[in-house]
Amino acid sequence: MQTKYIVICGSVLSGLGKGIATSSVARLLDGYKVVPIKCDGYLNIDPGTMNPIEHGEVFVLDDGGEVDMDFGHYERFLGINCKFEWNLTSGKILKRVIDNERKGDYLGKTVQMIPHVTDEIKSMFKKIAEKEKSDIVIIELGGTIGDIEMMLFYEAARQLRMDIGSKNMIFINLSFVPEPEKVGEQKTKPTQQGVQRLLEAGIQPDIIIGRSKNKLTNKSKEKIALFCNINKEEVISNPNLDTVYELPIIFKKEGLDKLIRSKLRLKESKNMKKWVELVNNIKNPNKEISIAICGKYMGLKDSYVSITEALVHSGAHLNTKVNLRWVETTDIEDKKTTLEKELYGINGIIVPVGFGSRGAEGKIACIEYARKNNIPFLGICYGLQMAVVEFARNVCGIKDASSIEINPKTKNPVVCILPEQQRIKNKGGTMRLGSYKADIKKGTKIYGLYKSHEAFERHRHRYEVNPKFHKVLEDNGLVISGTSQNGKLVEFIEIPEHKYFLATQSHPELKSRLENTSPLFYGFVKACLK
Ligand code: GLN
Repeated sequence: MQTKYIVICGSVLSGLGKGIATSSVARLLDGYKVVPIKCDGYLNIDPGTMNPIEHGEVFVLDDGGEVDMDFGHYERFLGINCKFEWNLTSGKILKRVIDNERKGDYLGKTVQMIPHVTDEIKSMFKKIAEKEKSDIVIIELGGTIGDIEMMLFYEAARQLRMDIGSKNMIFINLSFVPEPEKVGEQKTKPTQQGVQRLLEAGIQPDIIIGRSKNKLTNKSKEKIALFCNINKEEVISNPNLDTVYELPIIFKKEGLDKLIRSKLRLKESKNMKKWVELVNNIKNPNKEISIAICGKYMGLKDSYVSITEALVHSGAHLNTKVNLRWVETTDIEDKKTTLEKELYGINGIIVPVGFGSRGAEGKIACIEYARKNNIPFLGICYGLQMAVVEFARNVCGIKDASSIEINPKTKNPVVCILPEQQRIKNKGGTMRLGSYKADIKKGTKIYGLYKSHEAFERHRHRYEVNPKFHKVLEDNGLVISGTSQNGKLVEFIEIPEHKYFLATQSHPELKSRLENTSPLFYGFVKACLK
């Protein structure tokens, strides 16, 4: 079949949850092979070198690609594994065009934004569709209409619709419908003006999704329809919800599924029974636990979104509400607060990803607290490294043990830099990235969770437990339950006599999906319930 395209573009404001809306639209299209593409306007090749506080979590794919966090939503909603190529940035596109120019691909021509850059964007859309043999390509345009850096992507999308026609491509506009408290009713003017901007760019949306506090009223729908040249049925509600996973269900109730299928001449959809069940569990849990996440990017919770979602997924399967307590480890370090105060009554502790030395001692203190008080602990990547430092210092008695990342001059670097990392100068895309196999020791807790002698998880790190210290750690009771590369690199550790003290060098949260939870998170939530 001719590939169908759905473009999702935003207006009025960013931060409306376009990634969630895109994922929810895609979730409705089951029965078809759907490939999501995200276009970002920035000049970085990828977000890997950006501070998570600025851009949110850097999501890592199986193929090692560092991509926009929206790919996390796509994978969690669709249960697929995305590819680096599907995240187009202005940086990636322009680099291709400039490289082509140097090769002589445009000999004799003046190379221009239009048509050369827009053609490159269109050709990438088509190339991905062909390569993936996709039935439907869903393209999310980052930012909002009017952002200068996004205009070439809008123009390319406009042209593509001219090329393949309205039976094969539709535009969905996600807009904001505010409800100012003083006025007490929904206001549609921002949406109308957003659509005017889209029209200036030559784009008439086929469907408008109104992001609002409450469901759109009949009157709002009528107004939007009248002033934005569409039918009332083509205006869809996207209200505040208890859980983002409910959005596909709401969209279906609003008729969005039928609408898209009739516009693009697609078959009927299947039902979403298991999904609906899990959403009901999230909304009506019968148990409750509190988890402390001890990190240093607390200013923007988006930097840990995959971890919080992984907890939601496992919670849904165990009928449990997982309450989060955010512990800023720099505050513990600076003695602005105490461990006892921050971790009082907590059922479990997670030390997540981290970079640099700030906050590290606070994390080590939280891990010591978990270990000594038999509180379930899950260490992720940096969390594993800090658990090893804590164990070396307080159990093995190597008082000055540290990580090279915290103290480059330490005499006892229990965490050191990977040998293959030492020569690398470039910072972009050069960590140990993507999916690697770990061999798991029989009889360990990790083995019990994965129910296998091997595990494939994604990675993003430069540092590693120093092989010179493996023996002393093991002699003192730390079990290295999983390794890679013939036993050289530590992938999983555990303390057998502890209720649940597990850590991994990988990022299991990146592979957790609502319908298919991560074994480590599932085991963790279960242990916290005991
Ligand atoms: N900073 C550590 C490293 O590079 C840990 C990275 C992480 O937590 N993802 O190895």
